[in-house]
Amino acid sequence: MIKSVLVSEYDCIVVGGGPAGVSTAYSMAKFNRKVLLVDRKSHDNIGNKTCGDALDMASTKILYEAFGLELPNGDEVSEYLKFLSVETKDVKVSFNAPGYTVDRHIFGQRLLKEAEDAGVTVISNATVREVIIEDNYVKGIKYLKNKEMHEVRAKLIADCSGTQAVIRNKLPDNFSLGMRKKLPDEHIAISFREIIELKEDHEYPQEISLAYLEDIPPPGYLWFFTKGPKKLNVGTGWLKSENTFDKSMKEIYKDALHKYFSPEDYTVLTHGGGQIPIRPPYDSLTFNGGLLAGEAGCMTDPTTAEGHGPALVSGYYAAVAMNEALDKGDISREGLWNYNIEIMKHYGKIHAISWVALQFLREINGPGLEFLLKRNIITNAELEAILDGDMVSVGFFTILVKAMKIFPRFGLLLKIKKLVDGAGKMVDIYEKYPANPDKLADWIRLKNDAIGVEF
Ligand SMILES: Cc1cc2nc3c(=O)[nH]c(=O)nc-3n(C[C@H](O)[C@H](O)[C@H](O)COP(=O)(O)OP(=O)(O)OC[C@H]3O[C@@H](n4cnc5c(N)ncnc54)[C@H](O)[C@@H]3O)c2cc1C
Repeated sequence: MIKSVLVSEYDCIVVGGGPAGVSTAYSMAKFNRKVLLVDRKSHDNIGNKTCGDALDMASTKILYEAFGLELPNGDEVSEYLKFLSVETKDVKVSFNAPGYTVDRHIFGQRLLKEAEDAGVTVISNATVREVIIEDNYVKGIKYLKNKEMHEVRAKLIADCSGTQAVIRNKLPDNFSLGMRKKLPDEHIAISFREIIELKEDHEYPQEISLAYLEDIPPPGYLWFFTKGPKKLNVGTGWLKSENTFDKSMKEIYKDALHKYFSPEDYTVLTHGGGQIPIRPPYDSLTFNGGLLAGEAGCMTDPTTAEGHGPALVSGYYAAVAMNEALDKGDISREGLWNYNIEIMKHYGKIHAISWVALQFLREINGPGLEFLLKRNIITNAELEAILDGDMVSVGFFTILVKAMKIFPRFGLLLKIKKLVDGAGKMVDIYEKYPANPDKLADWIRLKNDAIGVEF
């Protein structure tokens, strides 16, 4: 039985209070819109999430520049970061990567408070169970709270419920072209991480490092993210589709970790796991009456699994597009289309290149990467470009030099060529993202044909 029904009191309902949800809700409230945020967690646990805790600085600046929202500070920050490194057994390369490791819970609670101070109403302990669709538009949600179902309606619904994607997964098939319901296992990474306290200072000051090792199934890695001189967030993950090993993920992780630190060197402060969507954003993130932001729209970088920053940024873009749509009185999939354009411009290209790089890493594995780095076949600049989602241009002469260095492992050269070609195609394709939904089907075909894989 439905306990209460609220009719169109809100401009927008945001489902989920993670970084995408609080960013969307906060930004909408700053645009003077009436916003309801619903989360299944208790109020004081919103924002708490098992994570690697790394957050790039550029993403946090978007809300600071738009509305003056304070950057992470005080006890929200575990450590300020300067470098991202890629290491193999014997080689390590580092790049500038300003950012933070954060305490997700403390930072998430502050963002929630900022949203409430800006006027957002929050309903916690409320699990969204159903989506209301009428006249081909999403009109509201039904949620369970205190064992009773409640119904609430609004002009727009933002699905920010993370990998659960509770709204997206309940939309009828073909409700909005370009948006899939369930993710296949090859588009999901499963992961496990611990936060450990060491007896001695570790060797990763101001640094996050991705270690590609023989022990970790490709394209996975062991990550070491500093949380202070003696604390590390360490974890691993790989594709769900490839999780067919005799040992558990935790056992594989521990075996790899103990090559760096023996069990007597550290104590485990906390541990946990989770799933991460790793694919470029869906080809469209808008539907009649709403949109997807953060992980619900697959905004995580496929290679590095960074999703916190993209969730914050996509929440802001979502609010800008929803505010515009309300102003012009068109809340259709097309009326919200500017959101797709902004996301594809910002993340489409770089995450598509990152996704191509992921397939490359999967094929060459840790020892393959070590060989390429040791002989300088992939230069630091090329590796940095790949990680940044930039196109790597490799001319004929460079290929010749690489061919000489790579002798006799020419198979690797072909893989590098496939990586470079694939990245180039993604740049071209994402720059041609259509200005309205009419040409979307053609664009999707072009994209999938480019590398012969449907994604
Ligand atoms: C082990 C691990 C390590 C990671 N490491 C990093 C890292 O170092 N750096 C980085 O940038 N990213 C990392 N990520 C990814 C990052 O955590 C996510 O990309 C980010 O939290 C996504 O934000 P979001 O707001 O989209 O979703 P979430 O943070 O997952 O928030 C979703 C919210 O929706 C709520 N919700 C879900 N279902 C319902 C429902 N039915 N009804 C009501 N509410 C609901 C949840 O309670 C939650 O509060 C990692 C992820 C994992 C699992």
